[in-house]
Amino acid sequence: MTGDIDAVVRSNLARVQERIATACAAAGRPADEVTLVGVSKYVAAAETAALVAAGCATLGEARPQQLWAKAEAPELADLPIAWRLIGHLQRNKVERTVATVASIDSVDSLRLLASIDKAAAACGKTQAVLLEVNESGDAEKHGFAPTDLPAVLAELSGYPHVQVTGLMTMAARSGDEDTARRNFAALRELRDRVATPDLPLTELSMGMSGDFEEAILEGSTMVRVGSALWEGFL
Ligand SMILES: *Cc1c(COP(=O)(O)O)cnc(C)c1O
Repeated sequence: MTGDIDAVVRSNLARVQERIATACAAAGRPADEVTLVGVSKYVAAAETAALVAAGCATLGEARPQQLWAKAEAPELADLPIAWRLIGHLQRNKVERTVATVASIDSVDSLRLLASIDKAAAACGKTQAVLLEVNESGDAEKHGFAPTDLPAVLAELSGYPHVQVTGLMTMAARSGDEDTARRNFAALRELRDRVATPDLPLTELSMGMSGDFEEAILEGSTMVRVGSALWEGFL
């Protein structure tokens, strides 16, 4: 199917963008309020490059090593891609990740935040991050407990090379649409409670292929979409 990679990816992207636009219209929100993060973890560099060519240059990878490999792949290295790490980051992988990404969307401990701050200082950047919150309470999920968030935010002034731009969550693994929507609403309400003028926490990264419409209805500004973009390749 090599010959039509570009056409298939273009049509998948158009379909996802249409779903985003429809959900934004239903929510009474402008469609440009929602950024599409194309999750490239299921495919190789060639398919990923086709997605960038089709117009989606904000990309997410769940595993640091795969993100590094993609970022350096010949098909991708010279493209203007904003890479976002969306999965768990171990502290021994922080340095190389900070050197590569626009944002780390899955910060789930103060120890990790401290490592990121140190690595960012060393390469002279301020690292944008999202704090991951475990709204569903699933034991296998990473993320801060919602009740811990105020104490975490109170520590941020100690990490001047990190900029927390918002929050990220994943809906309950076993849940239905209503559960997902409740998880997303809970993240928005948490943000509304803890945000301040100095720390507006504007970004809410929530919603994946199966539930991003619910997330957009609840105020998502960033949807992380994988499988729906790769139909025909998986
Ligand atoms: C894989 C992944 C996604 C994309 O999931 P799909 O259901 O394939 O759209 C989103 N967020 C995270 C954190 C992921 O690991």
